[in-house]
Amino acid sequence: MDEIKRIEELRRLLERYSREYYINDNPTVSDAEYDALLEELKALEARHPESYDPNSPTQRIIGKVLDGFEKVVHDQRMLSLDDVFSKEELKEFCERIWKEFGRASFVCECKFDGLAMALIYENGSFVRAVTRGDGSVGEDVTENVRTISSIPMHIDEAGHVEVRGEVIMPKASFEKLNALQEEMHLPLFANPRNAAAGTIRNLDTSIARKRRLDMFLYYFQNGEEHGVKSQAEALEQLKAMGFSVFPNWKLCTSFEEIWDFIESISKIRSSLPFEIDGIVVKLNDFAMQHEIGVTAKYPRYSIAYKFPAEEVETTLMGIELTVGRTGKITPNAILAPVRVAGTLVSAATLHNRDRIDAYDLRIGDQVIIRKAGDIIPEVVRALPEKRNGTQVPYEWPKTCPVCGSDLVRLEGEADYFCPNPNCPARIVRSLIHFCSREAMDIDGFGDKRVVWLHDNGFLSTIEAIYHLHERRQELLAHKGWSEKGTDKLFAAIEASKSSRLTVCFCPGH
Ligand code: NAD
Repeated sequence: MDEIKRIEELRRLLERYSREYYINDNPTVSDAEYDALLEELKALEARHPESYDPNSPTQRIIGKVLDGFEKVVHDQRMLSLDDVFSKEELKEFCERIWKEFGRASFVCECKFDGLAMALIYENGSFVRAVTRGDGSVGEDVTENVRTISSIPMHIDEAGHVEVRGEVIMPKASFEKLNALQEEMHLPLFANPRNAAAGTIRNLDTSIARKRRLDMFLYYFQNGEEHGVKSQAEALEQLKAMGFSVFPNWKLCTSFEEIWDFIESISKIRSSLPFEIDGIVVKLNDFAMQHEIGVTAKYPRYSIAYKFPAEEVETTLMGIELTVGRTGKITPNAILAPVRVAGTLVSAATLHNRDRIDAYDLRIGDQVIIRKAGDIIPEVVRALPEKRNGTQVPYEWPKTCPVCGSDLVRLEGEADYFCPNPNCPARIVRSLIHFCSREAMDIDGFGDKRVVWLHDNGFLSTIEAIYHLHERRQELLAHKGWSEKGTDKLFAAIEASKSSRLTVCFCPGH
């Protein structure tokens, strides 16, 4: 494809992903995939300076102020951070600064995976909390932030104080929240960061009160007006004022020290009670920071080193096949439950039969899994050297595990298919697709709810969705179906009648 066309395509794609991530708090691709596309766009834009656009996702912070919250203009813009993914790139960043300032020191901190927040105090009293928004204008979320018990409502510092940090949802709160969502047949949150963002940007304050959030502070925004001259002093001062400052930070004067810090945090990362996705390296001295300055999107004096996707070893307990809407068979690894990137994982995709053959997988094998970004767990390799003779080869079936039809594989294709359009699994997947955002977008009709309705005899065809209201009393007799929730679902179904259907939802298409 022509490179200029690719630039346009990437900009559109990244804008859509950012909308889903920042505005809907509901990412549809992994962070790794997003980062890779952004890197590709950066490289193409560097090759084609004539394509410069101040609105490109490489140039601006993509966020949006939601209706319902008051808009607040930030005194000083809330910037994002440029990131690097390798030791070499990080070293280059430090050396660039050392070239300019000789022996400058750096503060290394954990990169908390949450939602950036500014807190404002006037003469010692908390007055306002504002999200990053688009960097210039944020949302006033004071009432929700007030529910975070670790944030002091009074500090011993006169005058105007602005501090910034990250609102996070601890792993334990996240697991509790998703268990509750599941029980209520509501969609699950992809990760603690999106759950924290969704909680803070919820107009109902009682929700934030129930979900236990926390906040770590890392910037004293107008610290210089209060005699603070460096990042290390700012962290000390924040702590003295009563804010939560994560104690594992370090002032470093050499690259060896910086890298040692990164390695030591990588080792304890999975045991921390909250998610971090990297280390932020900040030039310590504020006067030097001013000299270096900022771009439209990032400060030039700090950088985020992003951790590679966390890889974890576990046991392959079995392989189960799922049948998709088109009849495509996908093998899934059933795993001994293990914690990866913040959630307990007990299944991972194996993509197709070729993958099983390529890894020469046996049931009982030790395997390495990771989450592609933060979302989809996958098996990345097997550890045949750990076999003890009890492992058994997996036999690929000849028939559909749901309806028993003979499986087919077209020549040259990696996938097997169930050819039966009446296969119950294909019907369920078609129903799920029909209700999804990509098709009729029926609010409240998540995968779990559709499966439940199908398995309990309420839905066997798409048409039945539009007759569901006739069985209201029967539904209300089941656990988890409240009057309010059920009527809300019926209203969403009714509303979908006026939406335009642009995709085909029949099984087999
Ligand atoms: P970022 O999260 O990569 O880094 C900047 C943020 O880090 C700051 O705004 C701040 O909130 C936070 N931070 C945490 N600890 C910090 C510390 N100690 N000091 C300073 N800042 C700290 O940048 P971003 O602009 O918020 O988000 C971009 C990232 O979001 C991408 O790299 C991508 O991984 C992800 N993303 C994913 C999707 C998707 O669809 N999956 C879409 C958009 C963005």
